[in-house]
Amino acid sequence: MAVPGARARGWAAAARAAQRRRREERTGGPARPEPASRRAALYVHWPYCEKRCSYCNFNKYIPRGVEEAAMRKCLVTEAQTLLRLSGVRRVESVFFGGGTPSLASPHTVAAVLEAVAQATYLPADSEVTLEANPTSAPGSRLAAFGAAGVNRLSIGLQSLDDAELRLLGRTHSAGDALRTLAAARRLFPGRVSVDLMLGLPAQHVGPWLGQLQELLRRCDDHVSLYQLSLERGTALFAQVQQGALPAPDPELAAEMYQAGREALREAGFRQYEVSNFARNGALSTHNWTYWQCGQYLGVGPGAHGRFVPQGAGSNTREARIQTLEPDNWMKEVMLFGHGTRKRTPMGRLEMLEEVLAMGLRTDVGITHQHWQRFGPQLTLWDVFGTSKEVKELLERGLLLLDHRGLRCSWEGLPVLDSLLLTLLPQLQEAWQQRTPSLVPGG
Ligand code: SF4
Repeated sequence: MAVPGARARGWAAAARAAQRRRREERTGGPARPEPASRRAALYVHWPYCEKRCSYCNFNKYIPRGVEEAAMRKCLVTEAQTLLRLSGVRRVESVFFGGGTPSLASPHTVAAVLEAVAQATYLPADSEVTLEANPTSAPGSRLAAFGAAGVNRLSIGLQSLDDAELRLLGRTHSAGDALRTLAAARRLFPGRVSVDLMLGLPAQHVGPWLGQLQELLRRCDDHVSLYQLSLERGTALFAQVQQGALPAPDPELAAEMYQAGREALREAGFRQYEVSNFARNGALSTHNWTYWQCGQYLGVGPGAHGRFVPQGAGSNTREARIQTLEPDNWMKEVMLFGHGTRKRTPMGRLEMLEEVLAMGLRTDVGITHQHWQRFGPQLTLWDVFGTSKEVKELLERGLLLLDHRGLRCSWEGLPVLDSLLLTLLPQLQEAWQQRTPSLVPGG
């Protein structure tokens, strides 16, 4: 694809925009903290990639050329529209994800941040993350993203084995990944995350753990471990179907995950979420918003959001999905100011289900106070305190329910999905009993 170069003009504009934001911060933002309904995280989706990875079923496109100026204009317009519709006054974090957002020019990143800072309050120390692919992110380009306002990088490293990287269809080698990681650490010390995959076909625990140990000698303060999920329609799925590759072994993947989390714990990392590990307090505040069911706006093709639209005479949070295909999305943004394809009002039960499923992914789980914000009519004790099935999970040491709230134990976190098979029906039943006159989810 044609990747617009980060020309001197673009860099200078980006740097000026970021400096202006810092100046505005020094001259004073709002002194009062905004209520939760006025705060949000912002996700920005860059839908393009250089090449299709063999396992990927994300919303991404491999174009011949990108009309970046048009894309930039639409991202800015949609961000402005959604900020206005949501009535959000403070954006606490911005995440540029994709696709491969490190293929966008720093100028585009700066333009979006500038628009956000003009429409709302974006504190100078807000977390601004960019996902970076090693081959599209040499040090000079990373520096330009820093000048544009990015202050955290998430590097899609995936593996430190060249044969595995080829299998995954990645465009980088292990050497590229380590060079990018070193450059990123110099530019964003303490704010670099790396993704490592596990559970690949023919992958074994020992060699994978060796990769993780190598990574632990090189990495910064944040690591994400992701299990490969074999998705229908991907090249890897077809290879496994045809017998060209062995199917990934879920038991081996579980062993890798367990060995990995122990190695990370020994290295001083806190497992603060099912897939995420941080030390020195380097948690991702943006992702934390998702797990705490905070509001977030999703800008760009196929982006998802959750917020309460203002001025519609309703307090109902909506789940929103933007139009998937970039050209159609751009046409809609140019016509209507946004490319929202689907708006679904979320019922109170649905919200509580999300609070439960997302909150239990974290090590702090769901505090009583947090639960009360979403379900004042039903306490955690009401829902789970008298259930025989839940009692059994507590007795097996997989779950804890106490004065702090509800959370998974170290042993429970890896089997969260199976715990939810008990907990979600329990919530639905308690909700029906407590609010029999309401339609489910109403
Ligand atoms: S770079 Fe990421 S989004 Fe793009 S094809 Fe690969 S996995 Fe998918």
